[in-house]
Amino acid sequence: MLYHIRGKFDAAHALMLPYESKCRYLHGHTYRVSITLEVNDQDVFDGKLNMGIDFARIKGVLDAVLAVRDHALFLSNAGKVEFFGEREPQPGWRLTQGEPTAEYLAQDIYKALACEMGQLSKEGPEIILVAVTLGETDDQGVTYYPNVAFGIASLEQVVAGAQSK
Ligand SMILES: [Zn+2]
Repeated sequence: MLYHIRGKFDAAHALMLPYESKCRYLHGHTYRVSITLEVNDQDVFDGKLNMGIDFARIKGVLDAVLAVRDHALFLSNAGKVEFFGEREPQPGWRLTQGEPTAEYLAQDIYKALACEMGQLSKEGPEIILVAVTLGETDDQGVTYYPNVAFGIASLEQVVAGAQSK
């Protein structure tokens, strides 16, 4: 069974890209986050409880992970130097390894949530964090899904299917 939970947070960033881009200006987004979880333990869908995940519990975990990123300023070291020189990092700043792109943020959130799901899985059925989708707007975003089973296997099937024709 796959589960979906959504949340949002507001944050600022600037991207020190090697080409002219408005992404270099300090600006903000209301990031839309959607996580996909999987529970495979059929025992929990046994005709009695019929529940693998308590939505409220997971929403609480997601909200806590997003809360520490809410109203943060994400900058790479290059971005920090560009805007703030040698100034000491301030509360609310989150200095990132490389540029704080949507790709970076999706992986950062994935890592934080994966730890939490590991803890929750000790109390009940195993909860697998399948994917974190992060949108900068309603129209553009990324999905990070490091457990390649579902992506690569299906891609291989697509290729195999195309070759068999
Ligand atoms: Zn941006």
